[in-house]
Amino acid sequence: MRLGGNTDWMVEVKNGGELQEAISWAARHELPVIVIGGGSNIIWRDEGFRGLMIRNKIMHYQEQAVPGEPTAIYVTVGAGENWDDIVARTTIQRLTGIEAMSLIPGTAGATPIQNVGAYGQEIADVLVSLEAYDTKTEQFVTIMASDCGFGYRTSRFKTTDRGRFCITQLKLKLTYGNPQPPFYPGVQHFLDDKGIVNPTAQTIRDAVMAIRRTKLPDPEKIPNCGSFFGNPVLNEDYSTGMLANYPTMPRWGCNNGKVRIPAAWLIEQAGFKNFYDQETGMATWAMQPLIFINKNAKFTSELFVFRQKIIDIVKQKFGIILEQEPDILP
Ligand SMILES: Cc1cc2nc3c(=O)[nH]c(=O)nc-3n(C[C@H](O)[C@H](O)[C@H](O)COP(=O)(O)OP(=O)(O)OC[C@H]3O[C@@H](n4cnc5c(N)ncnc54)[C@H](O)[C@@H]3O)c2cc1C
Repeated sequence: MRLGGNTDWMVEVKNGGELQEAISWAARHELPVIVIGGGSNIIWRDEGFRGLMIRNKIMHYQEQAVPGEPTAIYVTVGAGENWDDIVARTTIQRLTGIEAMSLIPGTAGATPIQNVGAYGQEIADVLVSLEAYDTKTEQFVTIMASDCGFGYRTSRFKTTDRGRFCITQLKLKLTYGNPQPPFYPGVQHFLDDKGIVNPTAQTIRDAVMAIRRTKLPDPEKIPNCGSFFGNPVLNEDYSTGMLANYPTMPRWGCNNGKVRIPAAWLIEQAGFKNFYDQETGMATWAMQPLIFINKNAKFTSELFVFRQKIIDIVKQKFGIILEQEPDILP
């Protein structure tokens, strides 16, 4: 977002030893620590950070056969690797499992934090385990995917254990061969338009990249941090009630009688489509109102005012409270 104050201290770490050393240095100086990857999903407060910011630069890539499963492979990646580089590298080898998560900005190590996902795939589907430094026990630990508390855009690292684990490595299980349908509707439309019937992982990656490039602003050029809110999950009864007033409201079912509503649709209906707010200098992205862009805001406090305007009107109109996706730090 190109907003927020500075940090007092910053260090880049390239391996587990350097990470441990940086954390003990901060402890000796009684400073709080924040570990970041690419910083693409963080909103920094105006006050800045009176502590040590550790930038994860742990690089590593290794493939390993899966015993008894000739069509599968384990891929171990360092937390500091650029996520899209990993997707490109595995896709080119005809491995399927993460190709729909192409072009998501940031590092591999951040993907489990909010269970990153896009176009029908999420990291929880392919993660076997991760390695992390546990700042509570001061030990390196292996955490199995089943113990990560994954949910829709969430995990234990974002909730109960926020800030406790510094992720150093991921172990993914990918499969050789073509991805299998059903594909995410937007991707299927793209394939239909091009007359593609039996897509490879590379075809899906190309489709996703083309779709994303038309819909999403490039954070290098236009300050943004991706989707600003998660898609709200409602009781089926509540959403059926809403349909009476909004018969064209998009929605899709999740488990146990719950229904998900696109936050973008709610924001649009609340009057914030392609909206520029003169008071704060913030705007919604013309192609996707769920993305906030910084046109000429100077302070994070202005972003917060803009955010509250949208939350308040959506709540007033639909009785739904939107929940923010990017992390606010410190
Ligand atoms: C244009 C755009 C499009 C996006 N599209 C998507 C999308 O389709 N799907 C999606 O899920 N997300 C999307 N995002 C959000 C973002 O890309 C992801 O959340 C990504 O995983 C952030 O990676 P990062 O390395 O930049 O993390 P950062 O922003 O640096 O950190 C995010 C959080 O993770 C923590 N963290 C980072 N690394 C570590 C580590 N090694 N150990 C412990 N904690 C860590 C940080 O403390 C912080 O709380 C998008 C963002 C942008 C800007």
